[in-house]
Amino acid sequence: GYLARSAFKLLQMQQQYKLIKPGASVLDLGCAPGAWLQVACQSLGPLKSGGVVVGVDLKKVKVPSVHCDERVQTICADVMNIERNKVRAFSPQGKGFSVILSDMCPSVSGITTKDAALSVELGSRAIELALGGCLMVPDEKNHGEASDSLSSDADENGVLRSGGNLVIKLLESEDVKELSEFCKPRFRKASWLRPKATRSSSREIYLICQGLGGA
Ligand code: SAM
Repeated sequence: GYLARSAFKLLQMQQQYKLIKPGASVLDLGCAPGAWLQVACQSLGPLKSGGVVVGVDLKKVKVPSVHCDERVQTICADVMNIERNKVRAFSPQGKGFSVILSDMCPSVSGITTKDAALSVELGSRAIELALGGCLMVPDEKNHGEASDSLSSDADENGVLRSGGNLVIKLLESEDVKELSEFCKPRFRKASWLRPKATRSSSREIYLICQGLGGA
């Protein structure tokens, strides 16, 4: 079985959008406890199709023994601080990933505006990792000042390959529109999905971007 019911969200996305093709290279941000690792690995097809799944989480994650195989590995790290070139080093031949998934969410405080803001920060970081550049502190880039924040990421290029797909979990708020407006022109298609497996009380929603660079 699957480690968490979140598996059914990714399964629905797979059914509707075929985001993960056999032999794909998948980066799974916020992977604990590992249900999406399971669905992602299944989606790669048989071992001979190749592919990789790399999960990242603040928590240590053991690769699940069911629905996963040797193509799956995990990294224990904070996605807000991890450097792009370190992430890229885990991709096949260092050429980046064909699919990036972010199911990251802040530990919910219950304060709606605070949670929404943290969610946008995590989502922005996922977009930065995927597409390159620096979304969150653009002014510092222009002034060339040294900074120990995100702009210290020496590797400016994104780790999502051309033609690749990007999925980002967000909490609904006015600000999430900015993220979708940023992504829309960069992909062939961008859509919003609220998976059936989402609790009715939850404000989470997924931004699904297909075909980086219009491919
Ligand atoms: N997709 C996962 C699954 O199916 O098993 C569930 C992910 S869970 C909803 C969200 C995860 O995001 C948590 O495990 C949390 O530790 C992780 N997370 C939140 N902020 C993070 C950060 N800055 N860096 C890495 N992981 C983070």
